[in-house]
Amino acid sequence: MADKRDYYEVLGVGRDADEAALKKAYRTLAKKYHPDTHPNDKEAEEKFKEASEAYAVLSDPEKRKAYDQFGHAAFEQGGAGGGAGGFSGFSGFDFGGGFTGDIFGDIFGDLFGGGRSRGGTANQARQGASLRTGLRITFEEAVFGTEKEISINSKDVCAKCHGTGAKEGTSPVKCGQCGGSGQVVRDTQSIFGMMRQASVCPSCNGKGTVIKDRCSACRGTGFTSSRKLVKVKIPAGINDGQSVRVAGYGEPGENGGPKGDLLVEVRVAPSQYFSREDTDLYSVCEISIAQAALGDTIHIRTVDGEVEYELKAGTQPGTRIRLRGKGVPSLRDRGYRGDQYVTFNVRIPERMNDKQKKAMMAFDDAVGGTVGKLKK
Ligand SMILES: [Zn+2]
Ligand SMILES: [Zn+2]
Repeated sequence: MADKRDYYEVLGVGRDADEAALKKAYRTLAKKYHPDTHPNDKEAEEKFKEASEAYAVLSDPEKRKAYDQFGHAAFEQGGAGGGAGGFSGFSGFDFGGGFTGDIFGDIFGDLFGGGRSRGGTANQARQGASLRTGLRITFEEAVFGTEKEISINSKDVCAKCHGTGAKEGTSPVKCGQCGGSGQVVRDTQSIFGMMRQASVCPSCNGKGTVIKDRCSACRGTGFTSSRKLVKVKIPAGINDGQSVRVAGYGEPGENGGPKGDLLVEVRVAPSQYFSREDTDLYSVCEISIAQAALGDTIHIRTVDGEVEYELKAGTQPGTRIRLRGKGVPSLRDRGYRGDQYVTFNVRIPERMNDKQKKAMMAFDDAVGGTVGKLKK
């Protein structure tokens, strides 16, 4: 509190400023720093709070008098002999919740039309939130795309009460505690008399209405739940962890707003044969020593089935070849398909019978004889 700026300085007005000058100064600052135009900007929010606080005090003749006399000490908790509560209303101010019915009502009324902050008006139609779910598919389904049907728990606006939660033929009634405003204003005693503090009405949770007789279909919640089958189109080329959006199967909207989306996170099972990097596939093909040495026509497994390949004579272990267009279709680039890289692994026999050993020795002799040379 020690380095709190002077309220007149905050608003940029003289100590003799009249009500109109204060209002004008505050309006300019509020417009400049309002949280609606600076989302997630802490500095602007602080500036806005600071200006709002200054205006709240200076626009009230009684508080202004106290401020002129005691300075900030007049509003500190327990300061200057202040009563319980002091000016604590500001620290807990909820900028997301709305501004109705408080001292700023008139100013925000002209500034933003509804006198409400970014929460929008209570009856404004809003799209529902997204609903998330997961889906497992095979490696091949991810490569070529597929269509799946999944069962979701769908929450819908109750058809019987149209979301009001009230029994057929009745409607919600105005909340007795807040009189329908959704807010309760609490008066606390301070050194200049009563201070007002607004908070969400605990009886109606800010709705302004309460239900006397509950709807039997939704037990007063306004929503019903049911299992629904949803067709999900999985595009060719989807990768593990990516999501597919299905419009209109999310959470129900508010005040007649559309339903949100269903986000289906796809988990792709690993393949026994292929590993994948973006649109390219990698595989290993085993060949025999004779095939590596002599060359051969071989079959290589691809996601499209086996393809024939002419293996060159003298293929070395670890040689990698590229099969163009045998990879995964691109999600971004329709019509493009990645490649498959095949690494040849030359299989060395682990056990040989006498005939095979003889043949191998004969081959060794024929190439100059390396085996057993040190023994000779
Ligand atoms: Zn209902
Ligand atoms: Zn209420």
